[in-house]
Amino acid sequence: MICKTVLSEISHIVGSGHLISSGDKLAEYACDSTKLSSMPDAVIFPGTEKEISLVLMLATQKGFPVIPRGAGSGMSGGAVPVKGGVVMAMDRFDHILSIDRDNLIAKVEPGVITAHLQRAVENVDLFYPPDPASIEISTIGGNVAECAGGLRAVKYGVTRDYILGLTIVLPTGEIIKTGVETMKGVAGYDLTRLITGSEGTLAVVTGITLRLIPKPTAKKTMIAFFTDVRSALQAVSDMIRKKVIPTILEFIDRSCIECVREEMDIDIPRKAGAMLLIEVDGDKELAERQAERVFDVCGREKSLSFETACNNEEAERLWAARRNVSPSLYKLRPDKISEDIVVPRSRMAGLVTYLGELSRRYGLPVPAFGHAGDGNIHVNIMFDNNLPGEPENAHKIIRALFEKVIGMGGTITGEHGIGITKAPYLEMEIPRAGIELMSRIKKAFDPKGILNPGKIFNLSGQVSGIKESGKR
Ligand SMILES: Cc1cc2nc3c(=O)[nH]c(=O)nc-3n(C[C@H](O)[C@H](O)[C@H](O)COP(=O)(O)OP(=O)(O)OC[C@H]3O[C@@H](n4cnc5c(N)ncnc54)[C@H](O)[C@@H]3O)c2cc1C
Repeated sequence: MICKTVLSEISHIVGSGHLISSGDKLAEYACDSTKLSSMPDAVIFPGTEKEISLVLMLATQKGFPVIPRGAGSGMSGGAVPVKGGVVMAMDRFDHILSIDRDNLIAKVEPGVITAHLQRAVENVDLFYPPDPASIEISTIGGNVAECAGGLRAVKYGVTRDYILGLTIVLPTGEIIKTGVETMKGVAGYDLTRLITGSEGTLAVVTGITLRLIPKPTAKKTMIAFFTDVRSALQAVSDMIRKKVIPTILEFIDRSCIECVREEMDIDIPRKAGAMLLIEVDGDKELAERQAERVFDVCGREKSLSFETACNNEEAERLWAARRNVSPSLYKLRPDKISEDIVVPRSRMAGLVTYLGELSRRYGLPVPAFGHAGDGNIHVNIMFDNNLPGEPENAHKIIRALFEKVIGMGGTITGEHGIGITKAPYLEMEIPRAGIELMSRIKKAFDPKGILNPGKIFNLSGQVSGIKESGKR
């Protein structure tokens, strides 16, 4: 609990109009998209780097937690103030500072909504490819902190591939620039990469220099239904072998199809056991050539049905199948735990078969959908929190799943981060010596452990003070 004197010092730094320390509004900053929640003592909305620096210096001196926060759309509890303290909401850092068409870079503040940046660069025929499905709500700062992925990662990569440099404020108050504003630069250790994906535990990001690319002028959207996941994933391998790297290559499995079937404005074959949504882009000629190759691989005789959108409206209709999956899964059970594991592309069929085994062994539905192009599968464990045995079985499935994934050479999280939800499992993937090295890095940045404590490292396997509220 932060005492009144310290709160008034914080208020003095950011201005009383930019601090909340009581009332209903405070509760809005207790949780993120996981719906796990823990109350902060206060929320502040700093307006300058200097204010951030002063608050962090005070936190290091007095020993209270500071939790950076973007839009709170995180899926691993990263912005949840598990140990109370001050949530530092970056809402006022919401400016696109420049878009440089000669050098193909943009400078932005971290509170900019990802979709706003994308639209601004596309207006001048440039392209910022990372596109998490939360694009209309998430912030660029949150994307940097989580190294967000997205649907286009198969062709264009993830957030870290577009970050050239950062301005950061250290927990001890120093403001430093990392990285470069050029296409090349190797001076010293790569702090930019270290901060990207550090989940708000090493520094507060206050400025971001992004790499842009020219905007593709054409795209083609296609949908194909297959009898089973194995034949759909075979088509994915065949596509890659034919040198087609689609912009988007999404799959959904049989139980996801059954959940969305009635809501869809497309003909779904009765025997459909898997669906692929495929998008290719480039200039008009390239997009058309690639679409032909996709048809060769998943067209008529290879799939149960295949459709190409003729215009944007039709493409939207095809997209609805993928977009509706996540919310429609609650038809299966009232509670959901979503994991975002990754396996090598060639092991995906084996992994999906294993999900069927887990589902039968523990008596719970385990529908899967995700990014077939990069092996990132969203595994959804559906259960009823009020039915005896189901929550326990859900957690047994998580452990068995992670063991399998790691055994296949994969990772327990492709884009959502460790946060608090996966902290108890980190040691399954990273050897103890690796975790200890990471802890020493954390200590070098944050000697008093005030920045986003309780995240990533949780060797005891326990998270205290956390409440579950509602579906997740
Ligand atoms: C419907 C839905 C779909 C999603 N789809 C995807 C997807 O396709 N791909 C994907 O990768 N993720 C996805 N996500 C997860 C989430 O949107 C991303 O993790 C996103 O990057 C979080 O951004 P945010 O602004 O909401 O950050 P928050 O949730 O507010 O914070 C996330 C983490 O970033 C830290 N942080 C935030 N701002 C800063 C800053 N300025 N400096 C330092 N640390 C900071 C926080 O402390 C926290 O640890 C999805 C979420 C939802 C709800």
